[in-house]
Amino acid sequence: MNNKNGTYLDTNSSVKDIRFRFAPSPTGGLHIGTARTALFNWLAAKSMGGKLILRIEDTDIQRSKKIFEESIIQDLNWLGITWDEFYRQSERIDIYKKYAEELVKKEKAYFCFCSNERLEELKEKQYLEGKPSKYDNKCRNLSKEEIENNLKANKPYAIRFKILEGEIIFNDIVRGIIKFNSDVFGDFVILKSDGTPSYNFAVVVDDWEMKITHVLRGEDHITNTARQIMIFKSLGFSIPEFAHLSMILGKDGKKLSKRHGAKTISEFREEGYLSEAMVNYLALLSWSPKEEIFLLKNVINDFNIKDISKNPAIFDIEKLNWVNSHHIRNRSNKELLEELYIFIKSNSFFKNFDLNSDINKEKINRCLNVYKEKLKTLKEFPDYIKVYFDYNLKDFDDEALEIIKDKNSREVIIKIRDIMLSLTNEIFGNKKSKEDLYLEAKEDFFKQILSHTSNQLYEKNIKGKNFYMPIRSALIGKAHGPEIPKVMYVLGIDECLNRLDKVINYLMVKNI
Ligand code: GLU
Repeated sequence: MNNKNGTYLDTNSSVKDIRFRFAPSPTGGLHIGTARTALFNWLAAKSMGGKLILRIEDTDIQRSKKIFEESIIQDLNWLGITWDEFYRQSERIDIYKKYAEELVKKEKAYFCFCSNERLEELKEKQYLEGKPSKYDNKCRNLSKEEIENNLKANKPYAIRFKILEGEIIFNDIVRGIIKFNSDVFGDFVILKSDGTPSYNFAVVVDDWEMKITHVLRGEDHITNTARQIMIFKSLGFSIPEFAHLSMILGKDGKKLSKRHGAKTISEFREEGYLSEAMVNYLALLSWSPKEEIFLLKNVINDFNIKDISKNPAIFDIEKLNWVNSHHIRNRSNKELLEELYIFIKSNSFFKNFDLNSDINKEKINRCLNVYKEKLKTLKEFPDYIKVYFDYNLKDFDDEALEIIKDKNSREVIIKIRDIMLSLTNEIFGNKKSKEDLYLEAKEDFFKQILSHTSNQLYEKNIKGKNFYMPIRSALIGKAHGPEIPKVMYVLGIDECLNRLDKVINYLMVKNI
């Protein structure tokens, strides 16, 4: 039973502090599934006023890498998932050994001297007979003498756990009652011959030593839970509560593949997802709060571990994009620009531009106002805005090229150029520097140009699409896009005139 004050009444009605743990193995980065596990542990701990322990499960020396531990921690930090205590299993090897030996002493575990070859042969034989692979308990009943002789002869040994008889039953917070018959398990290794613990053993020792009250992890661990409960019992430890999250599947109902979202959090960050969008989306994978768009800190009190859904979670990139676009819009321009500059700077196109110049900074600000509503990811931004920095007729899209070649277009383009020139002279005079002009001519000025031009051409029945499309095409080489005064405002007077002239020259040379 849980209450909001961070305490938990176990079966003996004694009050304990609530403690969750997130226990990643550093054999890869933080993937979407493990990140979701981390997040739900964090949410559950916070919502119950408890603590979260981060435990790096790095006893598999071959597969664990420091670099993965670092990237997991970096990604957790980025997501805003915090922890109260930190442990590394590789620094606790002696503790596991002590408990494994204690079990041997109590005859709840035993030395196993079987060689790898024998175990492989056994596995193969069982496979050929169509039986599940399971240790045949050969070393369970070795005599004291046999054991001593083997030890004296320095024969390598592992320590195996004697599985308990009967049913293993537990009440999963998400899934309800789960039962296993223990004879599906063979006696399994808890301490390997190199002295390192097996996963199931280290977890139990640590969950006990770290006073974990709730184990929340992926459903791929359900059978491990049954094994672990047997170890808890044999060691005489009280058993924590368990909750298993459903797998995350692709939209096709299959396991997540690299193409369908089986990526690390760092990869999502590099693709332009905001951290608050990422945690928002991860939370939606197994929880249905009242509002779908939220900041994590605002929903802690609405969260209840019992509301975790047991339906398979479906990873849907469209939904993630939708969530991300909301959070992009909710960010202030100032904050957003800080993030966007990272993407602009890493885009090779922008290598040739001085991004610190006042004009370019202002141009980027203006671009943000135009494209903020449209962005699904931050990474799209540099691609949207390139065209305002560099312009080439050969980059025009096919439709835009067709449009400017139309006979009406030339008239429209010449007209708007002339009106822009005369209004600029009229309003700003001739003396302004390019920079001053850029800063002073606001969007309203361009609206004025557009309405003057439109009025004059209206008489000639050039209007609507026939009016807008040639202008937009001439200015940015695209038939479709933002409203024209906005495009003009980003470009500024000088650049608009350059571009219009360039197109007029082109049409003249081509004799169009
Ligand atoms: N280290 C395990 C893993 O990364 C998780 C262990 C657990 O949560 O009990 O899958």
